[in-house]
Amino acid sequence: MKAGGKYGALRILQLILALALTAPAAAEPVEELDVGGGLFALEWRGEFSAAGRRKLKSWLQSVAETMKKLHGTLPRSRTRIILEQFTSERYRSVSPVPFARVLRSGDQGILFYVNPAYPLDDFVSDWTAYHEFSHLFIPFPGRADIWFSEGLASYYQNVLQYRSGLLTEEQAWQKLYDGFERGRVDNRYPEYTLADLCSNLRETHAFMRVYWTGALYFLEADLKLRSRSENRMTLDYVLQTFGHCCLNEHKRWNGLNIAAEFDRIAGAELFVPLYAQYENLTAIPDFVPVLNAAGVKISAGRVESDSRTLLNVMPLRTE
Ligand SMILES: [Zn+2]
Repeated sequence: MKAGGKYGALRILQLILALALTAPAAAEPVEELDVGGGLFALEWRGEFSAAGRRKLKSWLQSVAETMKKLHGTLPRSRTRIILEQFTSERYRSVSPVPFARVLRSGDQGILFYVNPAYPLDDFVSDWTAYHEFSHLFIPFPGRADIWFSEGLASYYQNVLQYRSGLLTEEQAWQKLYDGFERGRVDNRYPEYTLADLCSNLRETHAFMRVYWTGALYFLEADLKLRSRSENRMTLDYVLQTFGHCCLNEHKRWNGLNIAAEFDRIAGAELFVPLYAQYENLTAIPDFVPVLNAAGVKISAGRVESDSRTLLNVMPLRTE
């Protein structure tokens, strides 16, 4: 789910209320969009002009290209995409994609609420789609382990925007840093472990701590994988292999099962021990040493623009 903005949690609640009042639109036949190496099965809901449809299909083509920069292919060969016109006047100016969520039952995919009045560039530079699509590289781990899924999506939304040129390296690191910082500030429930917090998310709304502690888990795991293998083994590779062996298995997963498969793929005991450590955390751990390990230096809350250092040890690169 999309909740990475400064006021993400509050906005989601407001939007859920607004959407609950919206009558369902009549169904149209599914339109297949070939995105090169995969199909998007589009379901249009609402009144879209021909130009609006072309624009949204261009956006989705661009999103597909960005998502292929994780390991070369889309997470699934066929992805269900629902495009629902977002008509609430009150929230029209919020963003081109004010709300979205992953569809897990039946054909997996994404429901996007869109405001087609925005220009194509605004759609392409909106982070929502990169976040939602990143979820589809793993199965749903269940509500109790939602930090694992939201962490993966929050990490890769920035990595992939960097790889496709939508963010510079410095901007990508700054966004990760800012996210970790939001996770640190969201410290209202120090009595809850990360696992407790996920089980009580509806009451606590501690989305920032959940999302960004999860993102730190994946950055830390990615760096550990890379450093112990001299960059031969990466999180990208683990997800690619998981996509072949396991993603389409019909079974119920949880976060620990997925982490165990990741360890089997990596030939290491890494994801599971780190998982056990993270789910018992009562606050986001100190992330500056993790960023330093990636060669990223922070000064007064800003990523230092020493791009040569960043380039040399950048874990966001695909090779
Ligand atoms: Zn999400």
